[in-house]
Amino acid sequence: MVDEEIRVMPSSSITTSSAPDSKTAAVLLPLPLRGPYDYAFAETHRLRRGALVRAPLGSRELVGAVWGQAEGGVVKEKLRTAAPMETYRLPSALCDFIDWVARYTLNPPGAVLAQALRVPAAFEAELPRRALIIGEARPDRPTAARARVLDLMQDGLARIPSEIAELAAVGPGVVKGLAEQDALKWVALPEFERSPAPDPYFDSVVLSPDQLRAAEHMRDAVKKREFSVALLDGVTGSGKTEAYFEAVAEALSLSAQVLILLPEIALTVQFLDRFALRFGCRPFEWHSDLSQRERKRVYRGVMNGDARVIVGARSALFLPFLKLGLIIVDEEHEQAYKQEEGVVYHARDMAVVRARLENCPIVLASATPSLETYVNARGGRYEWLKLAHRHGAAEMPTVKLVDMRAEPGEAGQFLSPSLRAALADTLGAGEQALLFLNRRGYAPLTLCTLCGHKETCRNCSAWMVEHRYRKRLVCHHCAYETVIPERCPQCAALNSFIACGPGVERVEEEFRASFPEARVAIASSDTFHGPAETQAVIRAFAAGDIDVVIGTQIVAKGHHFPRLTLAGIIDADLGGGAGDPRAAERSFQLLHQVAGRSGRGEKPGLVLIQTRNPDDPVMRALVADNRDAFLDEEARIRERSLTPPFGRLAALILAGADAERVRETGRALARSAPSARGLKVWGPAPAFYQVLRGRTRERLLLQAEKTVDVQSYLKTWLGSVKIPGGVRLTIDIDPISFF
Ligand code: ADP
Ligand code: ZN
Repeated sequence: MVDEEIRVMPSSSITTSSAPDSKTAAVLLPLPLRGPYDYAFAETHRLRRGALVRAPLGSRELVGAVWGQAEGGVVKEKLRTAAPMETYRLPSALCDFIDWVARYTLNPPGAVLAQALRVPAAFEAELPRRALIIGEARPDRPTAARARVLDLMQDGLARIPSEIAELAAVGPGVVKGLAEQDALKWVALPEFERSPAPDPYFDSVVLSPDQLRAAEHMRDAVKKREFSVALLDGVTGSGKTEAYFEAVAEALSLSAQVLILLPEIALTVQFLDRFALRFGCRPFEWHSDLSQRERKRVYRGVMNGDARVIVGARSALFLPFLKLGLIIVDEEHEQAYKQEEGVVYHARDMAVVRARLENCPIVLASATPSLETYVNARGGRYEWLKLAHRHGAAEMPTVKLVDMRAEPGEAGQFLSPSLRAALADTLGAGEQALLFLNRRGYAPLTLCTLCGHKETCRNCSAWMVEHRYRKRLVCHHCAYETVIPERCPQCAALNSFIACGPGVERVEEEFRASFPEARVAIASSDTFHGPAETQAVIRAFAAGDIDVVIGTQIVAKGHHFPRLTLAGIIDADLGGGAGDPRAAERSFQLLHQVAGRSGRGEKPGLVLIQTRNPDDPVMRALVADNRDAFLDEEARIRERSLTPPFGRLAALILAGADAERVRETGRALARSAPSARGLKVWGPAPAFYQVLRGRTRERLLLQAEKTVDVQSYLKTWLGSVKIPGGVRLTIDIDPISFF
C-alpha cells in the first residue's frame, strides 16, 4: 500500500550524500526536535551525511549524525562544537529511510533516528578481552592438575581462564598459579569472537516443483540486485521457509546481507534451529530480549558486514546494514508488525520502503496475506508466487463447524460434546491436539450474582480478568492487580462473585476434569507463564512430551508440530471489533492459522470450530477453504466503504489525565479541521477503552481518497492547533487498531 507513495512523495530536502570540506554541518540528534541543529567543528572535515559525531546539547553529550550542510541561520560564533567519530557512518540508504519514515509517520526525524541509534555502546572503543596461551616458562612444581592444563594448552590456542579450568578439569586457582609463573601468558583478544558465516551450500532439501518455481524466481530477484516485491503465498505447511531459504542462499553467495523479519520472538527459537540445519550456524538475532552486550555485538556486526543474516523483530528495520541484499517479512499479515507506541509505524510497509531505498528485493510470506498485499498481488504490482499444496504427503485438514446453539452443554462448560469426542479419539490414537482460545487467565469477567456489579480496573475502563493460579484479578491493559474481594463493593454481599466466560486457565480446568490422564500445558503470553515457560512448552510439545496445549495466539502461528492432528477453536466469535474495518479479515487469518497447525505430518488433520454464527462469511470461508473468494468479497466491501487499501485512514488519539481538557482538545481539533476534497474527519469520539492507565482517550479518524496527500493535510491542520499541556497527541497513519 505504501509502495506507490515512494514514487509520489518528494525525496529528502537534503539530498547531498556528501558535503564539501567544511567546518560546520547540520547534525541530527536522536531526540524529537524539529530538525537538525547546526554545529561547528574544530577542524575542516569532509563531513558526509550519516557521519556520526559527538555533539553537546545543554549539559549532555549525544551521538548524532551529520544530516547535511549547516543552514547558516545561527551566528557562527554561537555554534557549539561537535567532534566527529572517525570510524562510524550510517549508510546513506538508512539516512534516507529515516527521513522517509519521519515524513510518512509525521514524526520528528530525530525521533526516528533514535530507533537507529539504540545502542550507543556500539560506537565505543572495543573492549579487549584477555585470554591465556601457553608461555615459555615451566612451572616450579609440576602437579597432575598443572600437567593437564599445559597438555591442553600445547595446541597454542588462546582460551579464557574459566574455559581452561573447565576443559582441564582443574580449579581456577591452578590456572591463576600458572599465569603468575608465566607458564601461561596473557594475550589480548578482540571484544567479540568472529561469528561463523552461514554457508549457502551447507545442506539443502529437494524442492517440490512449486517450491522450485518460487525459489527460482526469488533467486533471480536477488541476482538482479534491484527493488522488487514478491508475495510468497503458500498454504500452511507448504514449505515457504524452505523456498525462501533458497533466496537467502543466493544473497549469501553474493556476499550480501539478509534481513528476516518475524512477528514474534516466540517464533524465533524453532526458526533459528531450522536455519542452522540449512546453513550450518545460527543467524544473528535482534529483539528486545537481548542483553546489552549482545546488542552491541549484533549492531557492530550489522554495521561492519560480519553479520550476514539477521532475524529480528520490527525494530531490526532500523539497523545500519552495510550491504543489504534481501528482506523477508514472514507472516506478513501479522498485526504484531505494527509498532503502536512512540514512533507509530507498520514494519511490513516500512520494510517495503527500506527495500526500495536499498534497491533490493523483498519477499512477503504468508498463508493468509493481508488484504493490502493481496490486492497488490492481484493487481500485478507484486509478483505472486503460489504454493498450493502442503509439503510431502500432508493434506490440508478437514474443517468442521460446531454450532454451539445446537450442542447441548452445561453452564460454565466450554468443550462441546463434539469436541470432547474428537479429543478422546485423538488422544486414544496417541496423537496431539491444540485447543485455541485467545484469552489469557481464567475468566474475562467477574460479576456479582446479586447486584450485577462488574469488577473493573481503577486505572482503565476495562474488566479485571481473573487469574486463578495466582488467585488475583489482573488488568490486561495496565497490569494493575487485586485479590478477588470477599464482599461486593457495591451491595456488600458475601462471596457473591462468579467467573463469567472462559480464559485458557478455565478451559484447562475443564479439560483436566475430563481427561485426567492426558499431559496438558498452557501456552500464553502471560507474565505468569513468561516467555521462557512458553518456549519450554512449545519445545516439549514439538518433542511429543505434551499431548494437548491450550494456547492463545502465541501457539497459533508458524509452528510446525508434526504429530498434531486436532485443532479445536473454543470460541470463534471473539474476533469482532467495533468500528474496525479489518475485523473479519483478522478473524479469518487467525482462525486459518490455528487450523493450519493441524495435520502437518503424515496423519490427516481435523479442525473443529465452535461458533454461534455458523453462517458468518468467515466461518463459511474456513469450511469451504476458499480464501480468495473471501478476500475478493472483503475487497469489494472495502472499496465501497473507501477503507484501506482503497482509501486512506489516519487516527488522531488524544490522551491525558484531565478528562475535560482531553475532550475540549478533541472538539477544538475537529472544529479547526480544514475542509478539503476527498477527505472526511470523524469524531472526536471516546476511544473503545475510554480510560487507559488513568488517561482519558478520545479519537478522531481521518478518512481520505487514495489520491489525497494525507501527510500534507495533517501538517497544515495540526500546525494551526495548539495541543495544551497535559494532553498527548498520537498520530497513527494507516491505523490497524481502533481501540
Ligand atoms: P510453512 O511455513 O509454509 O507453513 P514450513 O516451511 O514450516 O511451511 O514447512 C513445513 C514442513 O515441511 C517443515 O517441517 C519443513 O521442513 C518441511 N518441508 C518443506 N519443504 C520441504 C522439502 N522440499 N523437503 C523436505 N522438507 C520440506
Ligand atoms: Zn488497568
